[in-house]
Amino acid sequence: MRTEVRSLPGWSSLISAMNAENFQSSERLVNSAYVRQGSQGRRAHELRLRALLEQGKCPEDAWDESTVELFLHELAIMDSNNFLGNCGVGEREGRIASGLVARRHYRLIHGIGRSGDISAVQPKAAGSSLLNKLTNSIVLDVIKLAGVKTAASCFVVPMATGMSLTLCFLTLRHKRPKAKYIIWPRIDQKSCFKSMITAGFEPVVIENVLEGDELRTDLKAVEAKIQDLGADNILCIHSTTSCFAPRVPDRIEELAEICAKHDIPHIVNNAYGVQSSKCMHLIQQGARRGRIDAFVQSLDKNFMVPVGGAVIAGFNGSFIQEISKMYPGRASASPSLDVLITLLTLGTKGYQQLLKERKEMFSYLSSEMKKLAEVYNERLLDTPHNPISLAISLKELDEQSDAAVTQLGSMLFTRQVSGARVVSLGTAQTVSGYTFKSFMSHANKYHCAYLNAASAIGMKKEDVDMFLKRLDKCLKALRKGKNIGMDSPPVHEDVSDMEKCSNAEEETKD
Ligand SMILES: *Cc1c(COP(=O)(O)O)cnc(C)c1O
Repeated sequence: MRTEVRSLPGWSSLISAMNAENFQSSERLVNSAYVRQGSQGRRAHELRLRALLEQGKCPEDAWDESTVELFLHELAIMDSNNFLGNCGVGEREGRIASGLVARRHYRLIHGIGRSGDISAVQPKAAGSSLLNKLTNSIVLDVIKLAGVKTAASCFVVPMATGMSLTLCFLTLRHKRPKAKYIIWPRIDQKSCFKSMITAGFEPVVIENVLEGDELRTDLKAVEAKIQDLGADNILCIHSTTSCFAPRVPDRIEELAEICAKHDIPHIVNNAYGVQSSKCMHLIQQGARRGRIDAFVQSLDKNFMVPVGGAVIAGFNGSFIQEISKMYPGRASASPSLDVLITLLTLGTKGYQQLLKERKEMFSYLSSEMKKLAEVYNERLLDTPHNPISLAISLKELDEQSDAAVTQLGSMLFTRQVSGARVVSLGTAQTVSGYTFKSFMSHANKYHCAYLNAASAIGMKKEDVDMFLKRLDKCLKALRKGKNIGMDSPPVHEDVSDMEKCSNAEEETKD
């Protein structure tokens, strides 16, 4: 990757925009001692750019926004749309009608890739190409730091996780023309399910097994399905790390071994797993002990950027390149730009600090949810293998009435608690023609209704405290409703604080 960055046209001219001659000319206008000091000031920024270009790694220390902006402006003026003498006569010349739009993209207009490969260098846009290569190189560095030490290659795609999984399956199709099934340990999330349907494959759903409170991969059922269908007819195993409790990350290591044994590819959905050292460790171990062809993670869920991008990574550079070659045409550079800016302004220290805080917040959320659950005769479900998501039982509420559980969901939603997820059992749902019993609960029959909350990157102690305070109020209100013999909408004394929830939409999506 380093040599690739260096061999790009113009990488060295990046470091000499305000060159010696310009400084000399400046000395005619301003005292030369001041100019010298100014040029030294500039040099400090340039040294950071040089280190980045030479190493292709995420800087340890956070960059100032001024260094980042300097860098982006210098990249942009290397693209043909910003050449002063450019005369474009093609159909795609990077013309932008709105100045606001141009500035929103730092005048990087050409996107990334070439018609045949999203990772290819674009001759019209040396700056954007450099941005693309550097971003992929820095993101790979961060994936290694986060725990997948032997990852060999990755690239950012301007599509969210589901579509990126689709791209992986479509790439495998060419290698396994006979295969039409994908073995998929059940996870009740629609985009990862649809990623298989959209690619034209038939998902073979493997129900999870209950161990204590946890829902875990049924390895025996996976083996039996492989025998049943025949390895050649199976495109891949599609496993999942990050997920809602009480499901826990799949047994990635064992699945990877099964894949190696039967020569079946293995794609891992690591949607929000980069932020968890446990999820990353599972992937690393899986690759060490068995077979993982690619693992896919969301940019927004792991790097605190807007929705729109994912990272496809793997252990074999040429397979990852095959996937990038499957992408038809050019692509938006926005997700790459966002993650590049983010990682430069955080530095590895900043990112690692966020990961550390997330872990601490998980312990805090867990102990606080446990306490609150006990006040209401409920309990924190025992799901030690899930490093991000937690669940508390809602048995009492469920016994009170069916509606009470969904009502809790609406109440939390109207109180502006987002992301908490109330799961009542028994509602079947059909997704792309497949019916899932008790959809959302990852199992046909779980033993109780429950409420989820997650400790994800960027969460603050105040978020946890406010969530628990509001949850406490809702549970109290519902309990009062029961005591005075009502099943549905309880009358609230603190009306000011509690809005009507009759037509509130339940927060169940995503
Ligand atoms: C977020 C997520 C996805 C993908 O969703 P996108 O909207 O496509 O990014 C897939 N699987 C799981 C488990 C997720 O959490």
